[in-house]
Amino acid sequence: MHGLMMDTPLLVSSILQHAERNFPEQEIVSVTADNPLHRYTFADCARRSRKLADALQQLGAEAGDRIATLAWNDYRHLEAYYAIGGAGFVCHTINPRLFPEQLVFIINHAEDQWLLTDPLFLPLLEKIAPQIEGVKGFIVLTDEAHMPKSSLPNAICYESLLEKGSAEYAWPELDERTAVGLCYTSGTTGDPKGVLYNHRSQVLHAYAGVAPDALNIGNRDTVLPVVPLFHVNAWGTPYSCLMVGAKLVFPGPKMGDGETLCNLIETEKVTAALGVPTVWLALLQYCEKSGKRLDNLQRTAIGGAAVPVSMIREFHQKHGVWVSQGWGMTEMSPLGTVGVPKVGMEGLPDEEMYKIRAKAGRAIFGVEMRIVDDNGKELPWDGVAFGALQVRGPWICSDYYKLDGSADTHTADGWFDTGDVAIIDSDGFMSITDRTKDVIKSGGEWISSIEIENVAVGHPDVAEAAVIGVHHPKWSERPLLIIVKAEGKEPTRQDLFDWLDGKIAKWWMPDDVVFVDEIPHTATGKIKKIALREQFADYSLPEGSS
Ligand code: ADP
Repeated sequence: MHGLMMDTPLLVSSILQHAERNFPEQEIVSVTADNPLHRYTFADCARRSRKLADALQQLGAEAGDRIATLAWNDYRHLEAYYAIGGAGFVCHTINPRLFPEQLVFIINHAEDQWLLTDPLFLPLLEKIAPQIEGVKGFIVLTDEAHMPKSSLPNAICYESLLEKGSAEYAWPELDERTAVGLCYTSGTTGDPKGVLYNHRSQVLHAYAGVAPDALNIGNRDTVLPVVPLFHVNAWGTPYSCLMVGAKLVFPGPKMGDGETLCNLIETEKVTAALGVPTVWLALLQYCEKSGKRLDNLQRTAIGGAAVPVSMIREFHQKHGVWVSQGWGMTEMSPLGTVGVPKVGMEGLPDEEMYKIRAKAGRAIFGVEMRIVDDNGKELPWDGVAFGALQVRGPWICSDYYKLDGSADTHTADGWFDTGDVAIIDSDGFMSITDRTKDVIKSGGEWISSIEIENVAVGHPDVAEAAVIGVHHPKWSERPLLIIVKAEGKEPTRQDLFDWLDGKIAKWWMPDDVVFVDEIPHTATGKIKKIALREQFADYSLPEGSS
């Protein structure tokens, strides 16, 4: 027997309508290329998004058309999210840090019809324009006064385009399974793969994201997403913050600038901030140098890469801020787990709490997870067994755009194989130990590169650490520790060995330590292990190691 409930579709336009009706005065503050501090309200955002949707339709955009954005986090990019998705087009967010050949690949693969771009990226687009001829026009996210000169014949000013749209535009009532967004994985191996979100997945993901034991976002919060709108929906904040009426603060092109972030947190009274570990490194370094404290900030959600205990400790001890670690991926919209302690853990000593928060966290409702061995057999949640991490749920991709099942990422019983290797403890806290392809296999046993990196980076003289497996005649692979020294510090190889001693299993001790000026990063700010493995391909470990 079916229940008797309305079948109201879950649409992102309904989030915007709800936000306009219930929180019209709530603010959105942005740093943009043409304004150091732009300020407007949810009502303004809703009105302008309708105008943009209408204007795009006047340009000839049709249902299902992919319309791309190449932009930092600000209010115009947010309008693009709602206008494009809400109108039934697909908002294809592009990472501007990708290499030009990757940009060309994904723009053509997605068959983008229009591209909204920050003025800063025009020179880049001018270079690749002959290779992306399918794009009908480039909409430059600025006003006429700031419109740069461009050799592109089809560059249109965003504000002028918006003027042509009607604020009376009515959002279509779409099927909730209509595609709403498209984001390509960064493609560290092979070509980037497109993940195609739908309205239903994004609305459910936003509901899950605001919960107290997830990102914990409400009407009284001011949220600073330092996670880019161009990568995995900025962890759902464009939808979740408007859903609950949280004030939004966007850092624009200043995402990596510790001083700007610190000032925004102070002046806008930011209560919750979200980002990958590298951006918080910049913020913490700035605070240390300037002696500033993050007094308003209550919590940060950090994910996208493992969070070292040292960072969690520094946030808490110096700023009174608790870190909740999250894990997820492009294919998961991205939220999968969040590391909020369970009831009964509140009295634990701080150092114990830091260790719990250094895990990737527990699955939020909507995400089922399991770890399996090489034969696909499920492994216990005992805090010891390592296995391939698999997930399933309504905001996890069932396939990649135009790949028709050829990606080989889904199991026969319908789970998505994340490509991560993990341990899950008896409380359900999961820890990522490696990407499958980064795992170090020494004498048939797995060594977690991430765990060694986390301990190494806690050394006060270390700025960044990476561990890769290098060839060893007896053990097949052994760990090599690669270090970037902290500014003005001169740690030695022996200092690192002494530091790791007792903090990791004896047989995990790296066979050597090398110092480099820089560790390569992917377009999303993660350590590029592939490049490191190439760089150290001919490396031979010192005589007598292991
Ligand atoms: P990319 O496009 O680089 O694949 P994603 O954001 O999709 O970007 O990356 C997802 C991957 O990032 C995960 O599969 C995992 O390996 C890593 N990751 C995310 N969060 C964490 C975390 N908390 N700890 C360790 N690794 C993480």
